[in-house]
Amino acid sequence: MTFRSETSQVPSIILNDGKVIPKLGFGVYLVPEAETHDAVTAALQAGYRSIDTATLYGNETEVGQAIRESGLPRDEVFVTTKLWNSDQGYDSTLRAFDASMERLGLDYLDLYLIHWPVEQADRYVDTFRAFQALRSQGRIGSIGVSNFQRSHLERVIGETGETPAVNQVELHPSLAQPELRAFHAEHGIATEAWGPLGQGSELKDPTITQIAREIDRTPAQVIIRWHLQLGNVVIPKSVKPARIQENFDVFSFELTLEQMQIISALDTATRVGPDPDVFTVGLENA
Ligand code: NAD
Repeated sequence: MTFRSETSQVPSIILNDGKVIPKLGFGVYLVPEAETHDAVTAALQAGYRSIDTATLYGNETEVGQAIRESGLPRDEVFVTTKLWNSDQGYDSTLRAFDASMERLGLDYLDLYLIHWPVEQADRYVDTFRAFQALRSQGRIGSIGVSNFQRSHLERVIGETGETPAVNQVELHPSLAQPELRAFHAEHGIATEAWGPLGQGSELKDPTITQIAREIDRTPAQVIIRWHLQLGNVVIPKSVKPARIQENFDVFSFELTLEQMQIISALDTATRVGPDPDVFTVGLENA
């Protein structure tokens, strides 16, 4: 197996803490443990240099193994994991972080995210303070959140004086999140899109397939390109090597302004995932 150890072809953005994140990464939600090693290996071979996992996904061990076995220098791969809902709270966050790092087999994490706000538990501010402590110990590069609405972001900023570096939210053509993206832009928060292909549901959209035909690209490539040109960090998932490669091959073409506008007009504020204001799964175990 060969891995090109070189400056990645992937463009990156600078976060509000000065750290650098690749604009295209590889997500491993619902990738079974047994398939994770091969999928991450295929992604690293294709040229991805950012992997997005979570405690919930149950595959941190295999993600870490594939990264270590690639032989790539640690600082060439950007690793994200997420704190699960039942672990929110200051001390429990410190323990959960240790457990994640043990499974990953890494001594440094690039980005740690609070997976969901779980407002009902009222622990996300304390959780963020624990993230700050871990970062000050040099164990994490950047700290951020996921599925946070504007109100949650305002509370973290107001109570900790720090603006999260990243908010990873559901975002695809049917849920373009214009207001949240504008808030992020105003506050220097990077928008990271999960479910960037609508978990596959956007790929058959006639407007997307029409543009794909016009420019001789695939629907997945058109949508990933739309994310990149909007300025989103994007982390599509697949376990099929050909699709992993296809989703990476998005740096040699551009959508026109008109095509961008046509895709953005598909927004119907329709989610494929849960509503972050009411999502409390995991809380029962907290
Ligand atoms: P996605 O939008 O990336 O869609 C993945 C699905 O699209 C695949 O399972 C496959 O069916 C299809 N697909 C992918 N590439 C394709 C191609 N080239 N051709 C045809 N079909 C293709 O959905 P996702 O996995 O939910 O989101 C991406 C990543 O975001 C996840 O793996 C995970 O890392 C992250 N995520 C985070 C949260 C969160 O709460 N923070 C929630 C869900 C996902």
